[in-house]
Amino acid sequence: MRNYTQFYIDGQWVDPIAPRTAQVVNPATEEVSGTISLGTAADVDKAVAAARRAFATFGETSAKERLDLLEAILAEYLKRETELGEAVSEEMGAPMSLACGFHTLLGKGHLSTAIEVLKDFKFEEQRGPTLIRKEPIGVCGLITPWNWPMNQTCVKIFPALAAGCTMILKPPQLAPYSAQILAEILHDAGVPAGVFNMVQGKGSEIGTALSTHEDVDMISFTGSEPVGVQIQKDAADTVKRVGLELGGKSAWIVLDDASLAANVAAATGGMMGNSGQTCSAGSRLLVPSARMDDAIAAATEAANGVTVGDPKGNFAMGPVVSKSQYEIIQGYIEKGIEEGAQLIAGGPGKPEGLDKGYYVKPTVFVGTNDMVIAREEIFGPVLVIIGYDDVDHAVEIANDSNFGLGGYVSGEDLDAARAVSRRMRTGAIWVNGGFDFHAPFGGYKRSGNGREWGEHGFAEYLEVKAVIGWNPA
Ligand code: NAP
Ligand code: MG
Repeated sequence: MRNYTQFYIDGQWVDPIAPRTAQVVNPATEEVSGTISLGTAADVDKAVAAARRAFATFGETSAKERLDLLEAILAEYLKRETELGEAVSEEMGAPMSLACGFHTLLGKGHLSTAIEVLKDFKFEEQRGPTLIRKEPIGVCGLITPWNWPMNQTCVKIFPALAAGCTMILKPPQLAPYSAQILAEILHDAGVPAGVFNMVQGKGSEIGTALSTHEDVDMISFTGSEPVGVQIQKDAADTVKRVGLELGGKSAWIVLDDASLAANVAAATGGMMGNSGQTCSAGSRLLVPSARMDDAIAAATEAANGVTVGDPKGNFAMGPVVSKSQYEIIQGYIEKGIEEGAQLIAGGPGKPEGLDKGYYVKPTVFVGTNDMVIAREEIFGPVLVIIGYDDVDHAVEIANDSNFGLGGYVSGEDLDAARAVSRRMRTGAIWVNGGFDFHAPFGGYKRSGNGREWGEHGFAEYLEVKAVIGWNPA
């Protein structure tokens, strides 16, 4: 049992001002795995005051001092990587191989990337009479979700630190453990008091207290669209900068010259990874209508081949994060059947033999782009295959979405695939796969505002100052 009932404020572990706790449930067993405290606005006030005090000095540190600090954090992170992976697996149900693999690797990658960006970053530049200076924006409220806990905390904390900002992290109630260990890592690495603070609790209380706070300069949020909208409204009165990384309904276009079976299998396996709880997942798979039969065969085989079970065992997929997410996903599966989509793998209910735990069957539908299951973010292991007539039609379907986060194009002819990537209205496109920590990540349309990852993510935490007359005429 984990007992994480203190907050990290001003360089110390402190009790909440008003004691109140919540239990955390292990999604693989449905049993209580630990306890956290639920803070109040009074705890947020304390954390913001500490961050404001610390900004006076941390905002003035040199890039070299911050580089040394980030290197020290990396050393501590490496020592506790396995513990972080175990915490992620326990809190949100990722298989251990994934939790101790890609989950913690993403956190480490954002840290190393912040170091690389900071090493070469030009904070000052002269143009004619003017000095253009980049300065840290100040005190930041970081609000994160549970689906890739290390990715989402680290992609905010490390660029913010590299920029010279101070911060308050509000981790998700569903995945509070890895954030606790991360706070310990930052403390042990010698992050100065007040620079990093963490208050656990409800989004509607701690999140709102940060968004509306007079003395918070910026909110960076990752999560659902409705909460993103609310945060933007809450932040409006104090004219904060708001970075939003929201949902997606990303299309994966398999072009006619691509290997259909291999790509359909890859897309199906990809959708089931992390139990489908990935904002940029390719949840709409677009294949040539004329080859739908082959696509159905490949997708069925791939989905039925995804093993589901205990995150501690050797399975490809664990449970989804919570009872409520399980029920939302079941609702979408029922909805797909109701609206006439063809169910070709999985379906309602739990996989055989898995009565305890929030396990969902890897599910694939063949449907049309007007169906609810093709329009809304399900956030579970549910793929919708849609047929297209020609490339123009494929692009039209891909862009016919309220979201615009990710996109995928597979094709042998690289120029043809590149041409399609130019026409897709999303913040990121993967052409025949690939991975890049320096590539900016964020959404068009209702998938959000702003960009994270790499140098673009670093810029989110900077203000721009023009000093005119720096060079007298
Ligand atoms: P969520 O409600 O958007 O929560 C994300 C974070 O925001 C959590 O820390 C949450 O706190 C906090 N929050 C909630 N209400 C808030 C408010 N009024 N002001 C400020 N912060 C607030 O997401 P969720 O409930 O975890 O998941 C719901 C759906 O969101 C999913 O089904 C999925 O579609 C989508 N989602 C998308 C992403 C993504 O990466 N784009 C990630 C996660 C979820 P609590 O601890 O109280 O929840
Ligand atoms: Mg919520």
